[in-house]
Amino acid sequence: MLTVANQKGGVGKTTTTVNVAAALAQAGARVLVIDLDPQGNASTALGIDHHAEIPSIYDVLVDGTPLTDVVQPCPDVDGLFCAPATIDLAGAEIELVSLVARETRLAKAVTAYLEGQVEGERIDYVFIDCPPSLGLLTINAFVAAREVFIPIQCEYYALEGLSQLLKNIELIKNHLNPGLHVSSILLTMFDGRTRLASQVADEVRTHFPDQTFRAAVPRSVRISEAPSHGQTVMTYDPNSSGALSYLEAANEMADRGARGEKEQS
Ligand code: ADP
Ligand code: MG
Repeated sequence: MLTVANQKGGVGKTTTTVNVAAALAQAGARVLVIDLDPQGNASTALGIDHHAEIPSIYDVLVDGTPLTDVVQPCPDVDGLFCAPATIDLAGAEIELVSLVARETRLAKAVTAYLEGQVEGERIDYVFIDCPPSLGLLTINAFVAAREVFIPIQCEYYALEGLSQLLKNIELIKNHLNPGLHVSSILLTMFDGRTRLASQVADEVRTHFPDQTFRAAVPRSVRISEAPSHGQTVMTYDPNSSGALSYLEAANEMADRGARGEKEQS
């Protein structure tokens, strides 16, 4: 279970969430994407209906609706599921403030959902796509998942804000979720022709040698076109450079998971 977070907007959180999730599902895993951003971009990219009347993650967080009642299958990829976000979620940030157990509501819902799964239909990966802020929605995600997955845009200012994010993760770890840690970092919108991109990439790899994926995602028009077709680039143009790099990142993630399981057994 991974929270995809970075409090900067437009760095590729949603794009990374949906494409890594789709790549893992295409390889045979069962994957759930929880859309926790009121903009609902992950829901759109996965071709999931999320107009105002659709049962959504808002109902789960605010009304205690079981997660299973809002999860929809993604029409294009077998084994890929999405708990959509509707515009209601914009109000949840404030509504949550006065609710009991406001930080742990998502964690409870996901735990109940996973426990309710039958053998043979178990979810292998859960990705939570966060809004670009550190409000109660993101805090709920940090409490629900142990792993944090940070996409970093290879541009100037990329590292600005990262130390703030790490501080916040440390706070949540100390107070709400002792197992929380940054497990994965993916360099996105990488343009190998510019020195700046290479410098940012080098700096990230130096600071986070174990977490940073070897694959970096290039800037690609196909990646940015896919959502307007209600698709991930994994189905929209599977042979494009963007799709191949997301596939590589997903492979690395699956390898790490397999190694982790081996070490535990
Ligand atoms: P976030 O969720 O962090 O706000 P998004 O994933 O929505 O960021 O990406 C922001 C914008 O950049 C979107 O329009 C998306 O289509 C585009 N984008 C993301 N990754 C790439 C890429 N590798 N190449 C080109 N455009 C990209
Ligand atoms: Mg987003």
